[in-house]
Amino acid sequence: MKEIARNITAYVAAHEDELIDFLSRLVSIESTTYHEREAIEFISSTMRNLGYDEVRIDGAGNCLGRIGNGPMVILADAHVDTVEPGDPAAWGFDPLVPRIEHRTISGRGVVDDKGPLSALIFAGKAIKELGLGERLTYWVSASISEEDVEGSCVQAMMELNPSIKPDAIIVAESSDGHVIRGHKGRALIRMEVLGRAAHASEAHRGENALIKAIPMIEAIDKWKDLPEDPFLGAGSIEITKAICDTPSLNTIPGKVTVIADRRISCGESTELLLSQLEPMLALSDAQASVDTEEVTTYTGYRITQVDYFPSWVLEEEHPLIASAKESYRLVTDRQPVVTKWNFCTNATYLCGITGIPSVGYGPGDHGLCHSTKEILSFDELTEATAIYAMMAVHMAAVLD
Ligand SMILES: [Zn+2]
Repeated sequence: MKEIARNITAYVAAHEDELIDFLSRLVSIESTTYHEREAIEFISSTMRNLGYDEVRIDGAGNCLGRIGNGPMVILADAHVDTVEPGDPAAWGFDPLVPRIEHRTISGRGVVDDKGPLSALIFAGKAIKELGLGERLTYWVSASISEEDVEGSCVQAMMELNPSIKPDAIIVAESSDGHVIRGHKGRALIRMEVLGRAAHASEAHRGENALIKAIPMIEAIDKWKDLPEDPFLGAGSIEITKAICDTPSLNTIPGKVTVIADRRISCGESTELLLSQLEPMLALSDAQASVDTEEVTTYTGYRITQVDYFPSWVLEEEHPLIASAKESYRLVTDRQPVVTKWNFCTNATYLCGITGIPSVGYGPGDHGLCHSTKEILSFDELTEATAIYAMMAVHMAAVLD
């Protein structure tokens, strides 16, 4: 295994220019959420040129590339979409024309998530050209729309590509180079309080729904002992919005809708999340549901998104985590830090809902995501590329 790690590292070093050139070109193609077509087509043609055995773009618009046809199926996912590029004045340069200096690359998406995606794609090329894929089927998914509806487009991808049945999943998002074994989930809870509208001068004829909602809002705000996971910590709930249904400012509202952001630690189902709230809802005679929204991807594919993204966690001793740690050590001669993400990723579906064992890892400082300071060093990128390739090969060798 040590020799394989050495060969992978040497191979990636020899192809560094090609890797940086690909990332640079990918950054220069703007791909904000729901506008990923051009970037997906570029990725698809690059995968073909790199010798991927199969490349497909599914109906939702995700691009999937395969190396090998072995019994161990690894899916490695990174998202293509980015947040808005932002103001060039704040960056000091055009964030769609990446700045390359002192063996670093800066620009929109280099950390989140085009750098990690480039590393996954070139890891596949290394596996193929070094002949390491005998026991392995390595799928790279360049998925869409993660920034708005994490999990939903990879859910569509799994449903649209039922022949792909991963044994394990690598979720590539920046992690400061740490190995990630879980993160909290989240849900948007919608609570409706009904009153009776009336003219403000005749308020006794109605019932002010906003005033009626106050006991519930206060009780939710005071609720601090939410279920706690020993690794992920306690869940939380915060009221983020209240919408009064009133036709004019001299009418008391007949209905108030209160939205809460619920961070989930213990994989609670939507039913459980709602039942936990019941005593608080009762104070204002409120009805609660998990919010839903409709989104349309760039191909016109419609997704009904339930705003519920469960948590996931694998124990530190899980064979997949052990394999990821060993792969990291083989490539770098260092012990990785094993920790959690503080944000939500596609793993919410890929592991939280499907239950397929998943591990997170990615180059770059995740604190730079969405900022005007996104920067990645060539060394972080090549090291991550070698680690992804090693992970896939190692998992195929040791997992059953
Ligand atoms: Zn991301």
